[in-house]
Amino acid sequence: MYRLFGKPQNYEWGKVGENSLVYQIIKKNNKEVDDSKPYAEYWMGTHKNGPSTILIDNQEKNLLEHLNNKPLPYLFKILSVNKPLSIQVHPDKFYAKFLHQIKSNIYKDDNHKPELFICLSKDFELLFGFKTIEHALNTINEYKEVFEKYEETKEFQEDSTLGNYKKLLIRLIKLNDNEIKENLSKILEKKDVEDYELVNKLYKYYPDDLGILVALFMNHVYKHTGDSIYISANYPHAYIDGNCVEAMACSDNVIRLGLTPKYKDLEQFENILNYHFHTMIVDPKNDYHEFDHREVQEQVIRFHKFGIDDFLVFDIKVAKEVKLHIKNSCIFICIEGEVSLEGQIIKEGESFFIENDIKMATIVNLDKEKQSHVFFIAEYYKY
Ligand SMILES: [Zn+2]
Repeated sequence: MYRLFGKPQNYEWGKVGENSLVYQIIKKNNKEVDDSKPYAEYWMGTHKNGPSTILIDNQEKNLLEHLNNKPLPYLFKILSVNKPLSIQVHPDKFYAKFLHQIKSNIYKDDNHKPELFICLSKDFELLFGFKTIEHALNTINEYKEVFEKYEETKEFQEDSTLGNYKKLLIRLIKLNDNEIKENLSKILEKKDVEDYELVNKLYKYYPDDLGILVALFMNHVYKHTGDSIYISANYPHAYIDGNCVEAMACSDNVIRLGLTPKYKDLEQFENILNYHFHTMIVDPKNDYHEFDHREVQEQVIRFHKFGIDDFLVFDIKVAKEVKLHIKNSCIFICIEGEVSLEGQIIKEGESFFIENDIKMATIVNLDKEKQSHVFFIAEYYKY
């Protein structure tokens, strides 16, 4: 069992200084912090863009090197989101290989990136999935002067099929800069509409960005502490504000559509829309994008999605004591409180890399005031 130090990522969309959960974790690990910098993500794993280090004989060593450059199949992150992130999808395994072949400068690895989101903050604001047909027609109705000038809109209104809905979205992502600008100025004029606040917030950060037009057709929702979402391949999403943990396959492959100064790959986004649109519609009222989770015991929630062997996650609230079979190799983090794991004391914000089977491990809560909260992530197929 090795003490593990994650790698912070200071992307500009992160919460700044003390306000960032990532900053707080780094500080609790006695690492240097800069109060004026954004702290967006904390990476625990072996991805080459930010491999963790582990402590061996009081020396920090690159975890990837320790594993003889054989990467872990998963990556575990803490996120502190201060402003909207790009509207994105992640490719499946097959498509990731293709993308890596044709654009290796953008798609730097050839792996898929299914994600598990678990909300840590009281509220987490995000966009996910496209609106249902009915909801999309309402939105068009609210912004008649913007959308009704397109032939594709009329077709969708007259024959409200998924195919026509898709054609309209593809029409929108092909608009030129002037058309986007013109449409957005009309959208901003509308006051008494459902997405008024959302549009204004997005415009503040990304004026004249195509993503705002597309965001109008996405579900704008709030998740709450402990809520989870399984983000499968080709599933559109954009985080807006809050703290969460994210577990994923070890990859950094992102196809971006908008709400970003980064490269927007509209051609690939169109391909994904063409082939997968029917899986991208979500009714948040009966959201089926929950991870297949089940209670292992009272204080333990185990997250795993059938078919995703790269990882599974245990989300554990320790009131007194929890017994759990821990198999090699996994990453363990105490997010709240203080626990002991097989006699090793683990304080808030600290994480460990466990390389050996512990069989039945005992996690004991050492916080006298409240229950402690820990996570661990491991390869699924070893369970
Ligand atoms: Zn994502």
